Amino acid sequence: MESSGKLQGKVAIVTGAGSSGPGLGTGRAMAVLFAREGARVVLVDKFEERAKETLNMIQSEGGEAFIVIADLGDLSEASRIVKAAVSQYGTVDILVNNAAISSSTSLLDTSVELLQSVLTVNLAAPFMLSKAVVPVMQAGGGGSIVNISSIAALRGQGGGGQAAYASAKAGLEGLMNDVADSYGKDGIRVNCIAPGLIDTPMRNQAMQQAGVEPGTLDLTFKVSLPHEGDAWDIARAALFLAGPDGRYLTGVMVPVDGGAVARSH
Ligand code: NAD
Repeated sequence: MESSGKLQGKVAIVTGAGSSGPGLGTGRAMAVLFAREGARVVLVDKFEERAKETLNMIQSEGGEAFIVIADLGDLSEASRIVKAAVSQYGTVDILVNNAAISSSTSLLDTSVELLQSVLTVNLAAPFMLSKAVVPVMQAGGGGSIVNISSIAALRGQGGGGQAAYASAKAGLEGLMNDVADSYGKDGIRVNCIAPGLIDTPMRNQAMQQAGVEPGTLDLTFKVSLPHEGDAWDIARAALFLAGPDGRYLTGVMVPVDGGAVARSH
């Protein structure tokens, strides 16, 4: 991919910037693409070795990034992450709330503990990171927040259900609408991406747990396009929303799903 320097001089925090297995997760792809476009990137992940792989990719291409290891299940970590970014790079222009845990259980099978952990990592952590970053963006004259939601927030997924995951991902849309409206006057834009069937480590592990080998999925009744997406599809959409091309976009949920949501209408 060629760079056009769209994020030159910008500082971006990307959560879940590693990948949870072989292949490319969306956080890693976004971090690498943002660095190619000139951003200095703060790589947040729970696991150092995952974040280090992303850092190595960025540095091998001459990009700039540093790692903050944090478990987003601990909500007090949000302010530490933003403080570390400001201390290292002076400001924050972009926040991508990408880290998440999946849960493939129906409403009736979801324990209180599972519900609480999914809501904490997938919704409350983006809330607290947004809260920590908005004053920095206000002081810097604006910024862009991109929340990675899911088409699970927009329609039923079939199969066994994903009640906690879908609830948390749908909550990101409410958070987006409120923050976009409240702080648009300060030049802060907030948008969501709802990935569909994207070939990433997290998705492939979930498929294997359901007994489906990655690459063998029958897409005929699932998406309009004849192929799955990959992490770069999400990264390009995030670049568009976070960067100058998205300057008049705020409060928008963008499905990047090959037509999956349109097909279910
Ligand atoms: P991935 O598992 O490859 O990467 C997620 C990263 O987040 C991992 O490196 C993991 O270590 C990190 N992480 C998880 N919990 C964390 C925590 N508590 N604190 C800090 N870091 C943590 O995942 P992916 O498939 O690239 O998914 C990324 C995002 O895309 C998620 O928000 C996911 O819900 C969303 N999404 C993916 C798909 C898909 O088909 N892959 C579909 C819809 C939505």
